[in-house]
Amino acid sequence: MMISGVSYAQDIPSPKSHFGFHIGDNYQLATYTQTEAYFKKLAQTSRRVKLVDIGKTEEGRSQYMLIVSSPENIQKLDRYKEISQQLAHATISPTQAKALSQEGKAVVWIDGGLHATETVGAHQLIQTAYEFASKTDPETMKILDNVIILFTHANPDGQELVSNWYMREKDTAKRALSGLPVLYEKYAGHDNNRDFFMLNLKETQNIGRQLFIEWIPQIMYNHHQAGPAGTVVAGPPYRDPFNYVFDATLLTSLDAVGAAMHTRLNVEGKPGYTQRGGSVFSTWYNGGLRTTTYFHNMIGLLTEIVGSPTPSEIPLVPARLLPNSDSPNPVTPRKWYFKNSIDYSVSLNYAVLNYAQRHADELLFNIYQMGRNSIDKGKKDTWSFSPKKIEAINAAAKKGGNTTGGDFEFGARSMNVKYFDTVMNAAANRDPRGYILSADQSDFNSAIKFLNALIRTGVVVEKATAAFTVSGKKYPAGSYVVKTDQAFRPHVLDMFEPQDHPNDFKYEGGAPIPPYDAAGWTLAYLMNVKFDRIQDDFNGPFEKNPYGKLLVPENKLNGTNYVLSAAQNDSYTAVNDLLKRNIPVYRSNENGDFYVSSSGKSILEKANVKLIQATEVKNKSKVSAARVALWDNYGGSMASGWMRFIMEQYHYNATVIYPQDIDAGNLKSKYDVIIFVGGAIPSPQNGGFGARAFGPKAEDIPANYRNRLGRITADKSVPQLKKFLADGGNIVTIGSSTNLAYHLNLPVRSAMTEIVNGEEKRLPAEKYYVPGSVLKLGVDTKQPANWGMEKEADVYFDNSPVFKLTGDAIAAGKIKPLMWFDSATPLRSGWAWGQAYLEDGVTAFEASVGKGKLFAFGPEIAFRAQTHGTFKLIFNQLYK
Ligand SMILES: [Zn+2]
Repeated sequence: MMISGVSYAQDIPSPKSHFGFHIGDNYQLATYTQTEAYFKKLAQTSRRVKLVDIGKTEEGRSQYMLIVSSPENIQKLDRYKEISQQLAHATISPTQAKALSQEGKAVVWIDGGLHATETVGAHQLIQTAYEFASKTDPETMKILDNVIILFTHANPDGQELVSNWYMREKDTAKRALSGLPVLYEKYAGHDNNRDFFMLNLKETQNIGRQLFIEWIPQIMYNHHQAGPAGTVVAGPPYRDPFNYVFDATLLTSLDAVGAAMHTRLNVEGKPGYTQRGGSVFSTWYNGGLRTTTYFHNMIGLLTEIVGSPTPSEIPLVPARLLPNSDSPNPVTPRKWYFKNSIDYSVSLNYAVLNYAQRHADELLFNIYQMGRNSIDKGKKDTWSFSPKKIEAINAAAKKGGNTTGGDFEFGARSMNVKYFDTVMNAAANRDPRGYILSADQSDFNSAIKFLNALIRTGVVVEKATAAFTVSGKKYPAGSYVVKTDQAFRPHVLDMFEPQDHPNDFKYEGGAPIPPYDAAGWTLAYLMNVKFDRIQDDFNGPFEKNPYGKLLVPENKLNGTNYVLSAAQNDSYTAVNDLLKRNIPVYRSNENGDFYVSSSGKSILEKANVKLIQATEVKNKSKVSAARVALWDNYGGSMASGWMRFIMEQYHYNATVIYPQDIDAGNLKSKYDVIIFVGGAIPSPQNGGFGARAFGPKAEDIPANYRNRLGRITADKSVPQLKKFLADGGNIVTIGSSTNLAYHLNLPVRSAMTEIVNGEEKRLPAEKYYVPGSVLKLGVDTKQPANWGMEKEADVYFDNSPVFKLTGDAIAAGKIKPLMWFDSATPLRSGWAWGQAYLEDGVTAFEASVGKGKLFAFGPEIAFRAQTHGTFKLIFNQLYK
């Protein structure tokens, strides 16, 4: 059979024969059920295809990966996987690595469908898989001979939801991707691409296993939408800043593969590719499906392409028409079809795979060399550059009276090199050789969760089989060690060390350039993991945990009465299990520790929590489970979805409620606590959410979702919330939902203001700007709301609300500050321009309203279910 001059093997079913339409036909989307059946057919009919079930999704579907290569290679997959692993781990000699690079095949990952409304993703995957299962042209055959391709579906549940939603309309003119009733990943929606260092979600865990443990591909390609207006597709290489922990070879490899992709489109007469400054994507952030791979020496590719099954337009954007080195081949305004986007995507896949087949031995050796460089750096004293070190060099020179040089200007006199040495040869500034996580820390179970996140991405963790001493400090047996002399050192550093984001401005004195996602996220800080950072070589009775093998806490149940620390997150899970079985639980009135009698034994055995060695808690009160409601809205709020995830993980029964439920009133008869995550409560200044219609019309959606429509309003919802508080209900607000304090006329104001010409104004971004970063706060540990917290807490802060409370209100006891900035330099990780403005600002408070209480937490204390260090601030409010 010949189609436009390309030959296809005859016995492989085409998409048209299976789906009833060509992939890329207008108004046609395939569901996952159909796609899964098609993948099975390809595997049955093509000797080039092996179907692998990589695990269940959150909704219980099978998630599939199609391994595609020549039939000869398919017979030897185990060997090629082993070679890929050995080269990535880089513990073999350069000679062995050279030999394996010759023997091995390049491994390339191509996924689709992660963001389910970006429908090109899943559909290019189907089309590309078909072409590689069936085509017999020389280029395809060479690729099959030299590359193992891993075609992976990134979000099966999402494709099923979105395709059924779009196709439910018989009239093609009515088909639309907008107005989905729920998130296209059960908990996270779009945030499913922000989960790759934490690996909370099943899909992330499945993908992570293949990427970081099983195959460790040298190249991975993650498809997204949409390109910036006036372009077709944005792709590699990406704009600055890049993360300073990367190996330089990674960045130049992104240039090389990017050039191959870009050039292929130009040769094929497909205009409209843009790179670097042509789009907003950078390589700073860790946690994206693409970006986490950089920290593992993989060439991670992202494209963002336009197009949808409903025909669209390339709009006229005059500024995009003039060619430049970011966009040398601009696209002109035109009608745009789904098929155009599929064709572009298949071309881009071919470009990547053709690059891989031509450079297979080099790709294999380079990932080895990057890993080798990491290991070497971890074995000796090294000094990494970061903006703070450059500042320190400049500061040292200034102090020494040497102020010339220091910039790139031609003719500038150079600085005395001794100022380099004062910073970059100082012992205190050396990169760490490793980290020790002592088993005697207050929440060791959470430390183990942190280590498991590292293990899921292939990091080597070691366990002490006996007590040991390092730098004069003793550690008990069972402590863990993470050393930096390993191939994935960049990821290790990134999870323990602060991110030092550069001060990135449009021009000197101008507005800041927002980072693509977070600026700082140091996971060890967000999870309140206690660790020692060791800068000298160290050793001990350490045993390596096998790659990918998850750790299980080993807690023993001693005694007959049990005290569970309020500092341990898993204590709350155990308590919830006990309360569900009506076993009495008491709480210390002094520090919130839980007390359980021997009747809780069997449940505590299963809970696997650490107990405090205490015989009795004297001053205590009985606790019971509060009836908890969690706000959400039509379409699903991601923040609410993550909170729902946390509630399930820690065994809380939270009922999801919608604005209409709140407006209907009578709330206290049903709930004791309502949680409002960020984005729920509008600001009173902007007149609330009323101005703009939200969500689809009721008649356009299925009846069972109509009760979810609407938003929280000042005129209908707030009076019901006031009534709820008056009746003795408690409300927990997070992030922007602390706006509720203003609706309630509490004596609080924003602290992030300045007086200009006698008027109070918001601080402009030129003076104060803190994009997603980790900041340090002071905590009032005496307050029951804060039980289990320490005097200082690291919180995730994203230009979050900060308050001033009036002294009178505090004195009258109506309002209690819970957390505040106790220094002018609270930045722990990320970027905090103008951080001195934060000093003394209150970030959390508790206010008595009627018989109830409002808890307001400005920082994102539940962010993406990553901030385990601040989960207790929620948990404490969920008991009576
Ligand atoms: Zn996307």
